[in-house]
Amino acid sequence: MDNPGTATPDRFPARERFADGAQFIAGRLTKGTSGRHHSVVDPATGADVYTYELAGKDDVDAAVAAARDAFPGWASATPGERSDALHRFAAVVADRAEEFARAESLQCGKPLKLSREFDVPGTIDNIAFFAGAARHLQGQSAGEYSGDHTSYIRREPIGVVGSIAPWNYPLQMAAWKILPAIAAGNTIVLKPAELTPLTSLLFAEAATEAGIPDGVINIVTGAGREAGEHLVGHPDVAMTSFTGSTAVGKRVAEIATATVKRLHLELGGKAPFLVFDDADVEAAAHGAVAGALINTGQDCTAATRAYVQRPLYEAFVEKTAALMATVRLGDPFAAGTDLGPLISHTQRDRVAGFVDRARAYADVVTGGEAPQGELKNGAFYRPTLITGASQDSEVVQSEIFGPVLVVLPFDSDDEGIRLANDTPYGLAASAWSRDVYRANRATREIKAGCVWVNDHIPILSEMPHGGHKQSGFGKDMSAYSFEEYTQIKHVMFDNTAVVRKDWHRTIFGDR
Ligand code: NAD
Repeated sequence: MDNPGTATPDRFPARERFADGAQFIAGRLTKGTSGRHHSVVDPATGADVYTYELAGKDDVDAAVAAARDAFPGWASATPGERSDALHRFAAVVADRAEEFARAESLQCGKPLKLSREFDVPGTIDNIAFFAGAARHLQGQSAGEYSGDHTSYIRREPIGVVGSIAPWNYPLQMAAWKILPAIAAGNTIVLKPAELTPLTSLLFAEAATEAGIPDGVINIVTGAGREAGEHLVGHPDVAMTSFTGSTAVGKRVAEIATATVKRLHLELGGKAPFLVFDDADVEAAAHGAVAGALINTGQDCTAATRAYVQRPLYEAFVEKTAALMATVRLGDPFAAGTDLGPLISHTQRDRVAGFVDRARAYADVVTGGEAPQGELKNGAFYRPTLITGASQDSEVVQSEIFGPVLVVLPFDSDDEGIRLANDTPYGLAASAWSRDVYRANRATREIKAGCVWVNDHIPILSEMPHGGHKQSGFGKDMSAYSFEEYTQIKHVMFDNTAVVRKDWHRTIFGDR
């Protein structure tokens, strides 16, 4: 269904707002120096909304130097001081919530209601969470474990963190990378995706306005191959945290390994949605449509493979297809729009390619096309439901990253769980059942970083997000991610004050 609402002309004034450039180094906006330019395109219209010079290696070096210079001061601030700064940061972002929402919708094509109700409040909640976490480092208690010494654990910041983020949730990804790192006393250089720099830059500016010192947060907007690889391999960067595709994650791991950096990889997903035959099929159909279409399906945890136990299969397909057809595509800034375009025409064509190839071996029940008329210049694609694909087919095994749900039947519970686990990914999954024993078995046996029961998608600042298998390792959000941005040091004090310690007998024998 298409929403006839039209665009408002003043979406977000990107050109005026970032006239000084798309790099944020040592507390101020600056232009890149790579000699190459890139355009931010509004995917809803195809219009170029902001052209900027990409960061080159020199810009990455300058950002890393700024972060290195800022590190001693920020690392030695008290937890209370860092927490206060983060509380002020949350307040600044809350004051500017509408500006953040409009910039995010402009560069990504997200419906404004999604940016306003999910991306921006989620980010503010994350800042508030890490403001609290900054004062709450936990560790083993000090003690006399040998009898002759007192041992204790220090948790220390690591140094300069280099982070790389994708384009699907640019603001939240910037927040998930920056907040635990700086709450723990590190400084950071973040490289957002070239397509979506706007909200990372707003975020860094807001931090500066909140009093977070210059150089603690730096943004370099450059190409992956040039700025990204230089950042990962940089000798002054102590840790790499990367969110993006599994293919690029493998390349990042290779480069990071050469300099023995701590590594955190949040990679692709292909989440199963497992519906047992005692489930509430109405709730499951609603959950599948919302879980598959959120952010136009460009969500690493999106429901992508629904496995439905045979007695409910037909009803589920019918209800899900009917609900999908009610979702209104349209201008992200127009009231009444449920679904915006994909991030780019390239991504739309990639998604259409998966669906078109699937026609040879499966059935496209609804969708499978780009809308025409008012929406024809945007990167739109209709919500699509596919049945009849085999488990080993491309649409079941590969991450499509678009508004496409594949539905397959299964017979026994064993088979359903086996199929749910049968891809290289393991980021998220859901199980739908009214039987606690069945649902609980699914949560134990599905290999994924998160398993929802009778829901799919919600996330919380207090709970970890991260993958199993080729979806990566390391956690975002929660106390777990905070800990990953610290390193542990064992400190051991001798309590005896004797010259010849008992253990010296291994060297001095019985002399
Ligand atoms: P991508 O892997 O193409 O790019 C991600 C980032 O890496 C971008 O900033 C890009 O410029 C950079 N990059 C590209 N090549 C690089 C290289 N050789 N060296 C260093 N950096 C490089 O991913 P994308 O298309 O931007 O985002 C979609 C992918 O992100 C999907 O696979 C999705 O599942 C994944 N994702 C995962 C999570 C998670 O939490 N696991 C969250 C969001 C997105």
